[in-house]
Parts: sequence; structure tokens; C-alpha cells
Amino acid sequence: MSFEVKDKDVLGRIGKLKTRSCTVETPLLFPVINPSIQLVPPQKLKDTFGFEAVITNAYILKKRFDEKVAKQGLHKFLDFDGAVMTDSGAYQILVYGEVEVNQPEIVRYQEQIGSDIATILDIPTGWKITQEQATTTVEETLKRAKAFFKTKTRDDILWVGPVQGGRHLDLVAKSAAEMSKLPFQIHALGSPTEVMENYRFDVLADMILTAKKNLPPERPLHLFGAGHPIMFSLAVALGCDFFDSAAYALYARENRYMTENGTWRLNELDYFPCQCPKCATATPQEVMKKPQKERETFLAEHNLYVCNAEIKRIKQAIKDGRLWEHTQMRTHAHPALFTALKKLKQHADFLEEYSPATKKSGLFFYNSVDLTRPQVTHYKKRLQERYTPPRNSRVLLLVPQTRKKPFHKAHEFKIVKQATRNIGELASKVHVCVYAAPFGVIPIELDEVYPLSQHEIALPLDTETVDYVANQAAEYIKQQRYEAVVLLHDPKQWGNKVKAECSKTCRKKNVNFEAVNVTGERSKNILTRLEKVLRKHLSE
Ligand SMILES: [Zn+2]
Repeated sequence: MSFEVKDKDVLGRIGKLKTRSCTVETPLLFPVINPSIQLVPPQKLKDTFGFEAVITNAYILKKRFDEKVAKQGLHKFLDFDGAVMTDSGAYQILVYGEVEVNQPEIVRYQEQIGSDIATILDIPTGWKITQEQATTTVEETLKRAKAFFKTKTRDDILWVGPVQGGRHLDLVAKSAAEMSKLPFQIHALGSPTEVMENYRFDVLADMILTAKKNLPPERPLHLFGAGHPIMFSLAVALGCDFFDSAAYALYARENRYMTENGTWRLNELDYFPCQCPKCATATPQEVMKKPQKERETFLAEHNLYVCNAEIKRIKQAIKDGRLWEHTQMRTHAHPALFTALKKLKQHADFLEEYSPATKKSGLFFYNSVDLTRPQVTHYKKRLQERYTPPRNSRVLLLVPQTRKKPFHKAHEFKIVKQATRNIGELASKVHVCVYAAPFGVIPIELDEVYPLSQHEIALPLDTETVDYVANQAAEYIKQQRYEAVVLLHDPKQWGNKVKAECSKTCRKKNVNFEAVNVTGERSKNILTRLEKVLRKHLSE
């Protein structure tokens, strides 16, 4: 296999892909080369901007230059010594309805010119299209994909099997499942451009994850037409390895200035929020006055710097185990992006299944959206499926989280320690657990296990987070066999939800339940009361 994963976080991965020309590292952005009008020369993209690969359109090359490229070879024609990917004309089908080339012709042409990564002639689904029309695009693409393997002649090119279906997720699933049976080295998710133009990042996230669930995880996934740095992080976190950007040049033509948080029109800017070599020595007013071509080049180059910087930040975030945090931050740039992050809740199990469970860094929790984090789901499953309380445990003592971690070393925990000490050998029958955001119930003997102490949370907790912890506590009580549950009740931080849920579950299960209020009480009173309650339930 030509793709090797070196590091992972969420579904994002740093990997090495071996192509005919060179080995490239993912996540990877391919700037789109327009062979007719190219603002920034391809080799400059590599030498000055650090792009290891570019993408260009084999259909346009064939139509405009035909034999010339075939004779010179693609790399010489473009004057580029990195990896070159070619698209096949599918985008032109989407825009113009048809192309003047058939699949065997464009496959043969890509073999002749020597693409490193090449694409079959798929039929893009598009956005405003019925289920029936979408089915046709999926079926025709699959038919061509199968026929392709009978006509290809070169084995040193990495071939892309595009997944279609658009927003019809059942079709995306079918398309991906069928494509994965064929020996493609790379897959691509087709036609997301219109989805993004309509700001339906939530639909895009569903499309990506539906494809991922049905594709072999060891093959890289390309997201066609996703060229804005605002959404790179989300797409990488969902498992996209490649992107292509024509946007850097198209935006430049319209005087649009990209940032990782959105787009500005050049005439709206008083300052450049960027320190790239272009912006560091110019003002927006000066650039506005430049001749059209010069201005366009300036903006295209700035846009490329911004795209590359964001890819590097994402890579570092993967290394640091902070891709989720980075994505949280980026999705705050637009409500439509944040909607996508919020809706990931539906895919929590899948995210957990393919994410690394352990990372070297601690986790940051901001709000209930972070409950979707793989580590939270992972812990929930582990506790449910594998955990048994110590033998002899008769009473569950639920203690609220402390600011300091590990919990058992916190100052507030002294009362619990003192109370259990005071009851002598009965203490061995008390099982202390902490109820804490975002993990739910944490048995005290596990509180130093990663990441149960290695996280920071923003307070006060939001309602959904409190509800989650309350439900986890109730779930835990339901599953285990304690004779009684004693809750240190902290209404100031937790309201009444935890108490209400625990009490309800105990009633249903016919287990004794008692709450000891801690808010506004003096330590001495809490201690006396707790000791009394524990003795009472242990003697029953
Ligand atoms: Zn800049």
C-alpha cells in the first residue's frame, strides 16, 4: 500500500503517500493549476510556498494542448517536479452538462501524459437533484469505475475512485461501499462545492462521514473543490486527507482576501490581519491601487500562504492531540460551520471507533458540544462494558467534582476521607465515585487514569452538560448493584438535576437513596451528617 499513517487525532491523519514522482505528506492541499492562465507558476508553488503537489484538469489539457503534453510529459509541460494529480472533466460535466471526451479516452490520456494521481470520468451528482437523477449518477459512475479496470494499462499511477450521491446519504453509502470493492488506491468525495456554496456544512459533514463509514480506512480520501481554509480543520477532523483549491485564484480575481476565519473584500479592509511576506510590507489601500494583474497575483499569493499556514496548524494540532480543540475554534468563525460540529453528536460512536484513545496532551472542554469528543464516548463505553466496582462495595458515595485534580488529592475531598476514616472498617464497604463533567461517573481508584484528571473545563457548566452527567450517574446506578446511594449534593454548581435523576433511578430499583447537602454548609456539619448517613445505610 502506498499510504502510511504516521499520526492520528479524531479522524484526521498525518500520512505519507508514495507517488511516482515523490512522497507527499497528508493532510495535503493541491492548488489548482489552470494551464491557460496561471498567476503563480507551478514550480514557485513548491519552492516558495511549500506545496508538494498540484492538481490540474486533464480534460482541458487534452482539449487545448493534446499531443503537446503527451509528448513533453505532464511535469515538464507544467514545469513542476512535485506530484501532479489530474481531474478528468467531471467538474465540466457538472457545469456544462457534458464533455467532448469519453472515459477510455481520458483514462488513456492521463496515462500518456504521466499523471501521478489520476481520476476516472465520473458523473457528479450536484446539489439540486432528485433521488432518481442522483441514482443515475451513482450507477453510471460505478459502471464506469468497473469498466475502467479493464482498460487501464499502467500500474504506477494512483487511481481515484470518486464517491457520488450528493446529499442523498443512502446513495453516498451505496456508492462508497461499491467503490471500496474495487482496487482504487484513493477515493474522492464528489460534488461538495455546491453544498459549501449553500453553507450546508452540516450536510457536508454527513456526506463525508457516510462515505468514510463505507470506505476502507487505509485508503486516503480527497474532498473535491474544498479550497477555503475556514473549513480545512473540520474536514480533516472528519477524515479527509486531500483538498484542492481553485479558490485561491478565483477569489483573487474578485478582490477577495482569505483568512482562516472567513473572507474579506479588499476594499473593506483597513488593515491586513496577516504577516505573510506579501501582507507584511503592504497596506490594503496600496494594494487596491495596483494594476489588476498585480493585485490579483498579490491576493492569490496571500491566499496561498494562508491556506498553507492553516494546513500546518492542523498538522501540529494532530501531533499535539488538539485537533478537536482547533476545530471547535475554527467552527466558531461561522454559525453554519458550528452547526456541523453540533450535529456530529449523531456520529459520536463512529468518531470514537476510529480515533486514538490516548494522547499526550490534556483536553479542553468548553461546552456540551465537546461531549461528542471521542474520549468522552470512549470512557462511557469502557465504564459500561468493562468496569466492576470493588468487591464488598455496598454503599455508593457520589461526590461532586473538585477544581483540583486528581480529585482524591483536592482540598474538598478531605471531608470524604475523614468520614470514611471515622467509620473504621465499615469504610471498605463504601465505594467513592466522583460525578464530573464531561465524563460522568469516575470511580475514585481510576481518577488518575488518562484523561480523567488531564482535562480543563469551563465553568459554570451548561444545561446539556449537567444533564449528560446526571444521566450517566443514573445509568451507572442502574447497572451496578449497590444497596444504597449517598449523594453529596451541590446545588450551587449542579442545580437539582443530578439529585433528581439519581433519586428517581434508586426509587425504581428499590435502592436506598440519601442526599447530603454541601452548598453553604460548614465542613464540620457536612462531616457529622455524612458519617451518620453512611453508618445508617451500612448497618441496615
Ligand atoms: Zn497575507
